[in-house]
Amino acid sequence: MTKELYDIAEQPPLGIVPPKMHAWLIRPERFGKPTEAFQQEVVNTPAIADDEVLVYVMAAGINYNNVWAGLGIPVNVIAARNKAGEKEDFHIGGSDASGIVYKVGKDVTHVKVGDEVVMHCGQYDRNCAWVKGGGDPMYSPSFKIWGYETNWGSFAQFTKVQAQQCMPKPKHMNWEEAASYTLVAATAWRMLHGWDVNAVKKGDVVLVWGGAGGLGSMAIQIVKAAGATPIAMVSGQDKFDYCMKLGAKGCINRNEFDHWGMLPHWKDNAGYAKWMKGVRAFGAKIWEVLGEKRAPNLVFEHPGETTIPTSIFVCETGGMVVVCAGTTGYNATVDLRYLWMRQKRLQGSHFANTEQSNQMNELALRGLLDPCLSRAFTYAEIPVAHQLMHDNKHPHGNMAVLVGAKDFGLGASGKPPVAIERAALPKGDVHTTPHPYPMSEPLPSVAEAAAITIADDGTRVGDLMHRGIIACAPDDTLAQVAKTMVDHEIHAVVVMDGSQATGVVSQTDMVLARQGRTSEQARALLAQNIMTPGCATCDAGLLLSEAVSLMTGRRMHRLVVTENGQPVGVLSMTDVVRKIIGE
Ligand code: NAP
Repeated sequence: MTKELYDIAEQPPLGIVPPKMHAWLIRPERFGKPTEAFQQEVVNTPAIADDEVLVYVMAAGINYNNVWAGLGIPVNVIAARNKAGEKEDFHIGGSDASGIVYKVGKDVTHVKVGDEVVMHCGQYDRNCAWVKGGGDPMYSPSFKIWGYETNWGSFAQFTKVQAQQCMPKPKHMNWEEAASYTLVAATAWRMLHGWDVNAVKKGDVVLVWGGAGGLGSMAIQIVKAAGATPIAMVSGQDKFDYCMKLGAKGCINRNEFDHWGMLPHWKDNAGYAKWMKGVRAFGAKIWEVLGEKRAPNLVFEHPGETTIPTSIFVCETGGMVVVCAGTTGYNATVDLRYLWMRQKRLQGSHFANTEQSNQMNELALRGLLDPCLSRAFTYAEIPVAHQLMHDNKHPHGNMAVLVGAKDFGLGASGKPPVAIERAALPKGDVHTTPHPYPMSEPLPSVAEAAAITIADDGTRVGDLMHRGIIACAPDDTLAQVAKTMVDHEIHAVVVMDGSQATGVVSQTDMVLARQGRTSEQARALLAQNIMTPGCATCDAGLLLSEAVSLMTGRRMHRLVVTENGQPVGVLSMTDVVRKIIGE
C-alpha cells in the first residue's frame, strides 16, 4: 500500500506517487526576507493534466526569482494566480531542477516513468491560437516562468511540469550540477542563437558582460562551442583565470574604466568628448585583448543602463547588442547616430523556447557545458541559500539544493563524451552589485492602467507658477540673455519671435553652450542657436503632478504656462521644490 507521506530523501518506489508531499511554501501572510517567507509544510501532491508530468525532484536550482516571490514584490505571485482563477493560497517556487519522471499525462509521448530529466522553465498553453499557428511560444500571451509565475516549482518532493519542459539529464553530471544550469544557459542560448542574421557564427567576436556570472559563464561556453571568440568583462583580475578556463580569449576588468553610466547630453561638447575618450580607450582594450583590430559582432548585455551606451558604440557595423535584463537600471541611453549610421541592432531577449532549450541541452549532454555549480545546499537550507542571495553574499556561478538526493555528488552515471577543463571561481568571490530584478516582471498594460492609483493633493499649476514672461529675441546674443537672467534672478528666458514663443534658453542650455568654447565664442552665440526649440507649455489648470511628469519625461526644468492659449507665466522645478519644503 502507498504510504501517505515519504520523508525527504526517502525515495518512493518508481511510479508510486504518495498523496502528500513535503515542500517549502511561501504564503502572503509571511512575505518578507527568505528565512521568514519560506516555511516547510506538507501539502497534497498535485494532480497533473493530460500534457503534464509529475517529476520526483532530486535537486533544485536557486534563482533570484524566488527571493522576489518571498518578498511579495514587485508582484504578489499568489494574488496574481488567484485573480486568474487558481485556488491555492501559497507558492511553491523553484525554476530549475533535475529528477525522475514518476507519472505522465495521457497525451505525453516523449518521456516515460523512470526517465532521468532536467527541466527548462518555459510554460505555455498548448491550445493558445498563436502557438497552434506555429508561433514562437515565447511570444504567446500564455507564456509563464515555471516556479515563479506558476505554482508547483521544484522546492518540493514532486513538481508538476509540462512534458515539453523535460529534457534528458546529462549522465555525467550529479543531481545538483544537473539542477543548476538550465535557466541561465537556455537564456544565453536564445540571446546568442535566436536572432537570425545576427546569431553567433564561426569566427565572430562576442563581448560578454559579467563573464563570471550566471548568464555570462554560460555565454562564454556557448560562444566558444559555436567557433566564435568570447571576450569576458569582469570586475576584477581574480576572475580572469575562471573565464579563460571556460573559453574566453581574453578578459577586461571594467574597473579600469570610468565612462560608465548614461550618456552625457549630445550638446555637452566637453562631457561628450570625455565620454568618447573613455569609450575609445575601452574599444582599444578590446583590440589589445583580441590581438587584432576588430569590433565585437555581438555584445551579450544584461547590466543595462550603465553599459548599453558603450555596448552600442563598440559593436561592429551591422552587429547586435542583445539584452535580457537591466540589472543596473532600465533607462538605457542610445546615441542614435551610431545605431542608424552603422546599422546596429539592439535586440531584447527573454528566456528561450522548447527547441532552443533542447539545443542548449545538447551542448550539456555532449559535455561541452560546465554547469558552473558554485555551491550546493541541503533541503533544509533552501531559505538560507535565498537569504544569501537576498543579502548579496552568495558566490558567483550557479547554486543548487538537494531535495530527493540522499547526499551531495550522487546521480552521475557516465563519463562526459567530451571532457572539458573544470573552471573554479576565485575563493571568497561574492556578489557586490544590487539584486537583479526577477527575470519576468509584470509590465503595465493598457488593461491594467485603470487599477493604478496615484496620490495627488489637487494642486494646480496656476497655484504655484510665477506670473509674467521674461523673454528675449531670437537674435539676442548669449551675453544679453545671460544678463537678463542674472538681472531678473531667473533660470530661463523664453525666446519670442514677434508674438510667437519659439523656444526656451535655460541655464543648462547656456552652460552646455560654453562647454568646449572660449568665453568670447560662447558670448557671441545667438539665442536661436542654443535655445531648446519648441516651447513646452501647459495650461494653468493642469494638475501639478501631471506637469512634473511632463518636465521629468522631457528632461526639462520649467514649463511655459498658458491661459486660453496665451503665455502668462512659468512653472519651474524650483517652484515645486519650494512647495515640498512648505515655503
Ligand atoms: P549574476 O550571476 O549576478 O551575474 C551578473 C554579472 O553582472 C555579475 O557577475 C557582475 O560581474 C556583472 N555586473 C554587475 N554589475 C555590473 C555593472 N555595473 N556593470 C557591468 N557588469 C556588472 O546574474 P545572472 O544570473 O548572470 O543574471 C544577470 C541578469 O539577467 C539579472 O538581472 C537576471 O535577473 C537577468 N536574467 C534574465 C533572464 C531572462 O530570461 N530575461 C534570465 C536569467 C537572468 P562583474 O562584477 O564581475 O563585472
